[in-house]
Amino acid sequence: MTGHLRKSGRVFSESPPGWSFPRKKLEKDLKSVKRADIPTASKGQQGLTLHNEKGLTKETSMLPKVDLHTHTIASGHAFGTVNENVMEAAAKGLEVIGISDHGPAVPGAPNIVYFRCLGFLPRTLHGVTVLRGVEANIFHDGSIDLDERQLEHLDYVMAGLHGEAGYTGATADDHTRAIIAAMSNPRIRIITHPGNPRFPAHLEELARAAADTGTALELNNSSLTCARPGSSPRCHELARLCARFGAPVAIGSDAHIPQAVGVLDAALEMALEAGISWEQIVTRDRDAIFDFLKITP
Ligand SMILES: [Zn+2]
Ligand SMILES: [Zn+2]
Repeated sequence: MTGHLRKSGRVFSESPPGWSFPRKKLEKDLKSVKRADIPTASKGQQGLTLHNEKGLTKETSMLPKVDLHTHTIASGHAFGTVNENVMEAAAKGLEVIGISDHGPAVPGAPNIVYFRCLGFLPRTLHGVTVLRGVEANIFHDGSIDLDERQLEHLDYVMAGLHGEAGYTGATADDHTRAIIAAMSNPRIRIITHPGNPRFPAHLEELARAAADTGTALELNNSSLTCARPGSSPRCHELARLCARFGAPVAIGSDAHIPQAVGVLDAALEMALEAGISWEQIVTRDRDAIFDFLKITP
C-alpha cells in the first residue's frame, strides 16, 4: 500500500496563500436547501451544526475544503470554464480545487493532448490551489483510457465506470472485478461514484479492496441530489462499509456547472451519519489531500 501511495508523488513548487474568504455564501447556500432529508446548516460557536428535520444534529468543525471532482466545458457536457469553477471555489472558501474532466472515451470529452497541456493552468488562481486531474474511464479489464504519456502530467487520477465510454461489463461480478483491478493501478487514487446503481458492484468487496490498496472511494454529492437516480441507498450502504473497514473516502461535488463546485453537504452528512471519521476523509483540507496524493508543497 505504501508503495502505491509513494508512486504517485509529485513536487509542488508554489505555496498558495491561506484561504481568507469567509464561508458565509456557503452557509447561505446550505440554508436554502429545501429537501427534508438534506440538512440545513448554521454557524455555531464551535463550528458547523448540521441538522435535519428528524431532529438529528451533528457538530463538525468544518466542511471539506477540497473538491477534486469538477468538470469544465472541456468535458463536452459541462458548462463552466476553469476560471468560473475556480472563482466559485474561492467564493465557497475552498483551499483546493481539482479540474477533472472526463477521459477521452466519453463522447465529447477532450482528446489526449488536452491532458498533456493541463500544465498551463496556474497553480494558484483567485487564492485557490488548482490541481490537474482527470476522471478516467475504467474498461472491462480495469485498464483506463489514458496512458502514462498523459498521466505523468497530472497531479491525480480518478476513475469510474461510465456508460457509452467503452465499458463492456454486464454483471455485478464484472463491475466489481473491473473496479478492483483499477484500484490495483497505483496511478488511480480515487474511484468515482462507486455506488452508481447502473453498475451495481459488490460494495463490501469494494470497501475491503479500497482499505487494502489505500484507494479512496468517492462519496459523490451529485449522486445524492441530481445525478444517477436511485444511488442513495447504495451510497449510504457504501459509506457504512467504508466506516467499518477504514477505507479512505473522498467527498466530491461532481460539479457540471460552476454553482455546484464545493457543494458537498449531502455527502458529508451521509459520511458522518455512517460513522466515517473526519480523518478518513482525504479531501478534508489541503494538507490531507497533499499527503494522500504525495504532493510535496
Ligand atoms: Zn463520472
Ligand atoms: Zn464526474
